[in-house]
This record gives sequence, C-alpha cells and structure tokens, in this order.
Amino acid sequence: NPSSTTTSRHARSDRSTAISMSGVTRNPNFAKLAGGYLFPEIGRRRTAYIADNPDMADRIISLGIGDTTQPIPEHILGGLVSSAAKLGTKEGYSGYGAEQGMAVLRAKIADKLYGGIIKDSEVFVSDGAKCDIMRIQQVFGPGVTTAVQDPSYPVYVDTSVMMGQTGNINPDTKQYENIVYMPCTAENDFFPDIENIPRADIVYFCSPNNPTGAAATKEQLERLVKVCKERGSILVFDAAYAPFIRTEGVPKSIFEIEGAREVALECNSFSKYAGFTGVRLGWTVVPDELTFADGSKVRDDFNRVMTTAFNGASNIVQGGGLACLDDEGLAEINTLIDYYLENAKLLKEAMESIGYKVYGGTDAPYVFVRLPDGKSSWDAFTEILEKAQVVTIPGAGFGPGGDGYLRLSAFAPRDTVIEACGRLKKAMA
Ligand code: PLP
Repeated sequence: NPSSTTTSRHARSDRSTAISMSGVTRNPNFAKLAGGYLFPEIGRRRTAYIADNPDMADRIISLGIGDTTQPIPEHILGGLVSSAAKLGTKEGYSGYGAEQGMAVLRAKIADKLYGGIIKDSEVFVSDGAKCDIMRIQQVFGPGVTTAVQDPSYPVYVDTSVMMGQTGNINPDTKQYENIVYMPCTAENDFFPDIENIPRADIVYFCSPNNPTGAAATKEQLERLVKVCKERGSILVFDAAYAPFIRTEGVPKSIFEIEGAREVALECNSFSKYAGFTGVRLGWTVVPDELTFADGSKVRDDFNRVMTTAFNGASNIVQGGGLACLDDEGLAEINTLIDYYLENAKLLKEAMESIGYKVYGGTDAPYVFVRLPDGKSSWDAFTEILEKAQVVTIPGAGFGPGGDGYLRLSAFAPRDTVIEACGRLKKAMA
C-alpha cells in the first residue's frame, strides 16, 4: 500500500528531524484536559507574581490549597514512630501486607468510624482518596457517563477525561461534553435539583463539599440515594471532610442513609482528620450489595484493581492509622479539627464584617465567599494577590458554577489566619 509507505516514511523523517520525539501517539484523552490541574496553576501564578515583585515574596500568605499545617499530635505520631521502629527488629519486621489493608485496621475503621454499619471486609485501605478515585475510574472504564457537582473537587472531572469518558471541553461553557454538571450554588442551597437533572451512570457527590463548604442534610442525601436507585446509577460519595461536621443530624457517611448500600460506595481519608496529607492514608468502602447491571459485584472488581495495581498502604502509615482510632487519637483529631474550624469562623466573620455573603465554614474547613455581581473569580484572585499578598482559590477553578465565588481555606496557622483577615478586610472592603 503506497500511501501507508509514504506516511511511515514521513513519520520516520519527522522523528529524525525533531529533537528526540518517540513514535508513540499521545493518549488523545490527555490532550483534552483543560490547562493544568488547578493547584499547580495557582502555584504558577503565585511564582509569576513573586518573579515580578521579589520584595513581596516574604509577605505572601496562603489560604489556597487545602493542605493541613498543624503538626501530627503526640499519640498519633507515636503510632507512626513505633511501627517504623518495629521494622528494625527481627520479630517486628514485615514485608508486603494484604493489598486491602491490615485486618486490624479495617476492623477498627468499621467499628470506630462507622459504628458497625459496614463490614470489615468492605473496607479497602489505601494511600489516599485521590488515588482511590482514579482506581474507581479504572473499574468503571471509558464507557460510562458521569455527573458531578458544579463546582466540585476537580479530580472527578479530570479523571473522567483521562479515562476517555468525555468529549472535548466547550470553550464557551467551560464544560466537557458527556459530563452532567449539577449546579450547586447559593440559589439552590448548594444542593442540585437532582430529580430534574439528566441521568448519569456514575454520580460523584462530596459532602461536606470542597469548595463550597456545604454539608448535605439527611433529607437531601435521602433524595440523592432515592434518585440514584430509581435510575440505576452508582453514587461515589466522597466523605474526606466528614470529621468537620459539627451540626447535629448531618450525616457523616452515606451509609447512614437507608438503601445506600445498594447504590453507593464511599471514599475517605486520614488526610484531613489527622494531618496525614503527606503521610498518605485513606480508605474506600464498597458494600457487598453494590452490583453492576449483570449482577457482578463492584467490590470484586475494585478488589481486583487493588490486588493487581496496588500493593497495599505502607505498614508504617497503617500503624499511624491504628493510633488515630485509639481513644487518645480520636481526641487529638477532635482538637485539630476544632482548631481549623475556629480559623474558618474567623475568616467567615472577617468577610461578613465587610459586607460579603459567606457560605460554608461551619461543617467544613472551607469558606466560600460570594463576590459582587459580575466580578470573575480569577480577577478577584489576582486582585487579592496583588493588593494583600494573600493566595486564595478562585471558585471557577472548581468548575464553571464556581465563578463569582472565592474559596478561603482554614488550613493555616492561627496567626496567619488573623493576619490574612486583617489584610482581606483592607483589600476587599
Ligand atoms: N477528596 C476531596 C474532596 C478533597 O478535597 C481531597 C483533597 O483535598 C481529597 C479527596 C484527597 O484526599 P487524599 O489526600 O486522601 O488523596
């Protein structure tokens, strides 16, 4: 075939003239991804600002990326240290462990965090919720349709794009083809009009939500489970901020909702519980009753991904997880979360005192600030960086529905929050 010979000769000569190109076609799904991942983009803009204003470098305060700042408390740290020390002894040494996690940790998660409403065998311990979201995507594959809260944690959309579940992004709407965006704004109390939104196979739902800080009520979650059940959708519930819930009656797990076991799986993480963002420990609960259309268990396929492509969470880190769930560890987690919630309260009060409408911040570490009508969130981000040297996160970074809002993170030392409040009051009044 002459034309293919021509093509391959062309390809070869392109390769020989380029610096060092491989002959491998780029995965077209990666080419669809819009810009960079949000947080590196924020970092890039911050670095560019410092390059232009080097004398301001030391003044910069970050209320941006939701990363914990407070040291790991004593009892929990003791768990990490002693499990590391055990590895240096003949009796205590261990190598590869169960891919699903230590039996004792799975049991303790089921007992202490779920009060026994789930089984030990349904808990899969991992290196974090973000990694688990991609593993769940590998289970679902490229053929499913996805729905996300708009705005939401960018990982649900970006992993859907990587998996090939979507078309291209529409430059006008900033939405990907074949993703159902469920608007969640102040107008609907940050809960989607779920009954009137088109069906998707997989529904990602995060509560308390990043970035809006909204924690869905029991009634709202009952509606969500009901609609998913009627439509035969699978609900992926992200409960990474569950320990921040302080309002009585607000569910901390989707499994508190009747019927959820046939509809939902739940991702969770020690990242925000115990300052484990760098330590890396999370888990996903996949109930036995959750099945695909052919009756096969989602649990079995998730187990297959864990055993084939993951070799279990670090044994040192799982020792830290066990310590988190001792009574002393749980008390330390409460103290840490109280600290961040107090920060959130200060940020909320500061913004309200200069007339802004503010959401979230009571059952979540994020304060979601409504900007004046017509003000874009990236413009507000730049203005605050330039006027106050405070790094925030533009709501639009979490989806088009987030435009017109700014996310402030309560993950910062107290003195930094107090300083930021003062500067924000001056810059944004
Ligand atoms: N889910 C949500 C909603 C998050 O905001 C984050 C981190 O910011 C994660 C999951 C990631 O958790 P992990 O550190 O366990 O990967």
